[in-house]
Amino acid sequence: MASSLVTDLIVTNGYVLTMDAARRMFADGAVAIGGSKIEAVGRSDEILARYKASHVIDAKGSVVMPGLIDGHNHIMSYFCCGYGDEADIMSRLYDTLYPYETLLTPEEAYFSALGNYIEMIKNGTTCFNDPGGYLVDSLAQAAVDIGIRGIVNRSTRDIAPKGKPLPPQLFEDVETNLREAEKTVHAWNGAAGGRIRAWYSLRYVFNISDRLATGIRDLARRDGVGVHAHVAAVRGENEAVQQIFGKRSLERYYDLGLFGPNLYCVHMGFPNEREVDLLVRHGVKVTHCPSAAMVGAWGVIGNKMIPYMIEKGVPVSIGTDTAGAAGSLDMFRVMYVFATVHRDPYNDPTLIGAYKALEHATIVGAKACLWDDEIGSLEPGKKADLLLVDRSAPEWQHPGRDVVRSLVYSANGSHVDTVIIDGKIVMRHRALTTIDEGWAAGKIRASAAAVRERGGFPVRTAWPVA
Ligand SMILES: [Zn+2]
Repeated sequence: MASSLVTDLIVTNGYVLTMDAARRMFADGAVAIGGSKIEAVGRSDEILARYKASHVIDAKGSVVMPGLIDGHNHIMSYFCCGYGDEADIMSRLYDTLYPYETLLTPEEAYFSALGNYIEMIKNGTTCFNDPGGYLVDSLAQAAVDIGIRGIVNRSTRDIAPKGKPLPPQLFEDVETNLREAEKTVHAWNGAAGGRIRAWYSLRYVFNISDRLATGIRDLARRDGVGVHAHVAAVRGENEAVQQIFGKRSLERYYDLGLFGPNLYCVHMGFPNEREVDLLVRHGVKVTHCPSAAMVGAWGVIGNKMIPYMIEKGVPVSIGTDTAGAAGSLDMFRVMYVFATVHRDPYNDPTLIGAYKALEHATIVGAKACLWDDEIGSLEPGKKADLLLVDRSAPEWQHPGRDVVRSLVYSANGSHVDTVIIDGKIVMRHRALTTIDEGWAAGKIRASAAAVRERGGFPVRTAWPVA
């Protein structure tokens, strides 16, 4: 018999969902991991016959699956969660979210980001795509320290909305925007052994001049990275953009030459059929935040264009938007909403469903984030980003519900037992291994309290009366 190959870690005896091209599953499967990468995936007996490792994790009674990808998560906004829970999008943006972005110190931003990442890891998210904030060095450093994977991004915007008193530092001239964005990409793209990437951002289409848009387009193409852009997000946006710029949102970005495989459009409830055709033709990517659309009542679900785009072949990731917008950073919740919410306006109970939801939270999400060469599935050669999800609780025992449907319809993030990112165990039996959780919790509480105080955010002491 041939001698065994020696590797670092073997996860064995699990119900393995590979999410590879054939969507192979192994009812008793194993994953062999060497360094940051997956060496082999297969039946437990086969893997154990071929590999030896000093560290073996017995995943009996667990699902073993790729880590979840949160395709749109404003890392900067963690302490802003809840402002505007019941407000329209424009007042949420201009009265709370934008001013808040100037409120934090670098240290508060670090601990706010750390809180964000802790909540993500505890719920099985191993990779995020941030649409852009400020103090990016703090956000990126926290990601490096805790061990999560992600894409960071510096905000750019140069046109202040008329009649809204906003902090002037939010709207920089074109040159400053381009210089600062470029600095972020050069500082962080490829950091932590490639675990951190950095892209360019165009915040909201209203706040972006033509010259800024084309400047970002050129930098992103030169650097070979994505552009994360909020566009066609809410009902009425196209009409308002038309009034200001003379074109619909996507039509404008198309005419500015932004369409290409590295354009990553956020929310996208309101493209028309011609625009979807252009998205497909130019390989544009999309991210969709179903819970955030519901919380904000943007009209995205009712406009029925998300399933239409998916049917036409646009790679659509799913995301939380923020802890505030999605209710939490639990991507299990987002998968459930995505799997079910589009059925109602179509009156079709077969639409999307659990299997598709899991695809969009893993391999399709990876493709949309331009990262499917390394993540999104459990395959030899890919990065070892995986979860053990405990399926011993009563809600996993329904005889008529299979494992994937249990995962999406019955489970939640608290069932995630172990998280491995880049080959490293960052959570084992729900305890983080990379940071002292007690220390982090204290720092996060203190930073949140300081921000609440400085921002003058009121503590409610009376029941709101309609
Ligand atoms: Zn957003």
